[in-house]
Amino acid sequence: MSAPHTINGLVSSSAVSDSAGRLTGTCHLPGEPAYESCCAIWNGMIEKRPALVVRPASEADVSSATAFAKDNNLPLSVRGGGHNVAGAALSDGGITIDMSQRRTVTVDADAMLVRVEAGATWKDVDAATQPHGIVVPSGIISATGVAGLTLGGGFGWTSRRFGFTADNMLSARVITADGQAHTASATENADLYWALRGGGVNFAVVTEFTFRGHRHGPEVLAGMVVYPLEAAREVMEFYVRLTSEAPDELTCLLVLRKAPPAPWIPEAYHGLPIVGIVAHWTGSPEAGAATMQRLKDFGKPVADTIMPKSFVSFQSFLDGGSRSGGATTGSPTMPRGSMLDWR
Ligand SMILES: Cc1cc2nc3c(=O)[nH]c(=O)nc-3n(C[C@H](O)[C@H](O)[C@H](O)COP(=O)(O)OP(=O)(O)OC[C@H]3O[C@@H](n4cnc5c(N)ncnc54)[C@H](O)[C@@H]3O)c2cc1C
Repeated sequence: MSAPHTINGLVSSSAVSDSAGRLTGTCHLPGEPAYESCCAIWNGMIEKRPALVVRPASEADVSSATAFAKDNNLPLSVRGGGHNVAGAALSDGGITIDMSQRRTVTVDADAMLVRVEAGATWKDVDAATQPHGIVVPSGIISATGVAGLTLGGGFGWTSRRFGFTADNMLSARVITADGQAHTASATENADLYWALRGGGVNFAVVTEFTFRGHRHGPEVLAGMVVYPLEAAREVMEFYVRLTSEAPDELTCLLVLRKAPPAPWIPEAYHGLPIVGIVAHWTGSPEAGAATMQRLKDFGKPVADTIMPKSFVSFQSFLDGGSRSGGATTGSPTMPRGSMLDWR
């Protein structure tokens, strides 16, 4: 634990420890690197400043920090991946529990169970599950936090086949406002379990999730077909037809943006507005090839990257267009995008 501090004469990091007697994680004040990195969330317009950031090292630490906030009538927030657009991860003037040091993912491949600490991002989950050919339904950006996405429902490339992320949450370890630890599942604290699965984020602090895994990957059929903006009307009409008729194994996303200077897009289109359909298949390769052919045959695409590839690379290829702290999409230069390297 860091040295004692006084904050506005109200909170001290030693007091957080003293309230339960054993904080094994760390506390951080404005100006400290860990505090500033916690406050650097996805939406760069948010400038909330917690009085204190607690980085728990255990479930007991989360309990101590939660009880301390309650006992001192302080606002409390939890930071997962920091992707909430409104900045709900940060508690202005209160205590923020920063879960970023707690991101272990444990896979039981026989039982198809995946245990995830609440500070993990989906990139952490994919890295642990994909070597087993297992997936937990997630979102479309690998940097999004597991906690916020799950507690809000969670929809991504595999959800049409395997359900919302929250549908696949089998249980959670949680700390309620009184600082007590509980398991929430279909058989234990079932009402809390019901509320956590998509009901929002203020019912309890989740310390760990257990998910049902599904067989998918490590190689998948996926990619993007790109057209000039002039074709947008036809592409959108086709998109509506395709997605209304598609089997659950196919998930598509319509993209309108400026083309990045990616080697797989002809140079003449770099920086120009384009329209594209991103597609991902979760079924058998044979059926997928036939379904994808319909998409590949439509119109006159200027680029087509639909082919077998690793699920991990596909899961992160849009990351570059959704950078943390910056503009959301549309940068023609895409300086840090994995989309540049992706095929
Ligand atoms: C670029 C981008 C892409 C996205 N893509 C998708 C997508 O494909 N599919 C989709 O469904 N959603 C998507 N979202 C929305 C995203 O799921 C939500 O913004 C979600 O809240 C982010 O979770 P987080 O943990 O990263 O965020 P945070 O901002 O850290 O947390 C979000 C909320 O959850 C609370 N919270 C965090 N951890 C815990 C915890 N352990 N216990 C209790 N409460 C907690 C926070 O206090 C906050 O209120 C996207 C958002 C962005 C910015």
